[in-house]
Amino acid sequence: MHTELAEFLMNTPEGQEAKDIVGRCVHCGFCTATCPTYQLLGDELDSPRGRIYLMKQVLEGQAVTEKTQLHLDRCLSCRNCETTCPSGVEYGRLVDIGRKIVDDQVPRPWTQKLVRTALKEGLTSPLFAPAMKLGQWFRPLLPETLKNKVPAAQDSGTWPQRPHATRVLLLAGCVQPAMLPNINSATARVLDALQIQTLVADKAGCCGAIRYHLNDHAGGLDDMRRNIDAWWPWVEQGVEAIIMNASGCGATVKEYGHKLRHDPQYAERAARISAMTYDVSEYLLPHVARLQGLLSPSKTGSMVFHPPCTLQHGQKMKGVVEDLMTRLGFGVSVPAEGHLCCGSAGTYSVLQPKLAYELRDRKLAAIEQVCPNPDTPVASANIGCITHLQSGTQRQLLHWIELIDAALVDD
Ligand code: SF4
Ligand code: SF4
Repeated sequence: MHTELAEFLMNTPEGQEAKDIVGRCVHCGFCTATCPTYQLLGDELDSPRGRIYLMKQVLEGQAVTEKTQLHLDRCLSCRNCETTCPSGVEYGRLVDIGRKIVDDQVPRPWTQKLVRTALKEGLTSPLFAPAMKLGQWFRPLLPETLKNKVPAAQDSGTWPQRPHATRVLLLAGCVQPAMLPNINSATARVLDALQIQTLVADKAGCCGAIRYHLNDHAGGLDDMRRNIDAWWPWVEQGVEAIIMNASGCGATVKEYGHKLRHDPQYAERAARISAMTYDVSEYLLPHVARLQGLLSPSKTGSMVFHPPCTLQHGQKMKGVVEDLMTRLGFGVSVPAEGHLCCGSAGTYSVLQPKLAYELRDRKLAAIEQVCPNPDTPVASANIGCITHLQSGTQRQLLHWIELIDAALVDD
């Protein structure tokens, strides 16, 4: 589709990028079939093709309304449409640009602004950990809606202290250490068993996705620069890789090079950081043979795997975790509609609860169908999906790395 950029977007990098992306869309509509919001709402304007058309109008300077904003808000940014698209339309990048332009033109009511600011600042604040602890103490007294967001307190076990010649950095994440700390320590223990030392840079924090996806692009880019500054001394000292165990963060850090490509001070380092960033599953793949020997076969049982969108669509890593776990001896089932979002989608479950919970329940029903045994754990690869799905079931939800950790033969 050809787009005539409005004057205010001409000669801007985001205008040109958005125009190029829209230009690749041939309007075929293949993407509508796999779009979760189109499946739920059946409205063309809640499909990728419809949203691309709305954004083309925005880019051309046509009147932007609250209706445009609503249809873009309802998008999960799951990028399922990218996987389906035969023309290589980078919808995720387009919707980030489109939403920002729309938000600059359509002021939100103060209630929405308040919630968005609370999410942006609250989730990335150092006060999040003490607030979560407080929430966990009073969890039994919390109303159901809040309880859904506060997982029960968790023992994270010990963090390995042995030094190893091979060292990697781990992004601890902004909410993960407070909400589900065992994911990080399990990752460190599995790597330690392979004689790889896990380091966490003190000053690294949120990957930038929260602010960026809430249309605070400047704030998101600042988060990215802060992480690069925190990691760079370790990169210079020869760490082998930067490991992500939350696929949402991984998808973002792998984009640092693209996001900061016009920043003369950071472009080169950002590209290097992205190039050495791995989801923990892809980092472990070359170590499978050694890892097999470190697991107790009696502890590698059945599991259901829910692949997060940020892993399969964002990082294009469809099937990697399933393959890894199968080769390690686990019996892996994947529910039908494995390509569909569970509704978590970063802050989406707070901002669009109705759609988010419909998608959650649809996912949980598919999980029950593929594996009705309540004792079989359900694993995923992103803390958002884990906590969102956990809020609707009594079954155990966890990160797949925790299953490997639990299966390690005792020293
Ligand atoms: S599948 Fe791709 S080319 Fe076809 S309408 Fe969707 S985004 Fe456009
Ligand atoms: S990102 Fe997901 S919800 Fe948004 S248009 Fe694409 S498939 Fe639909």
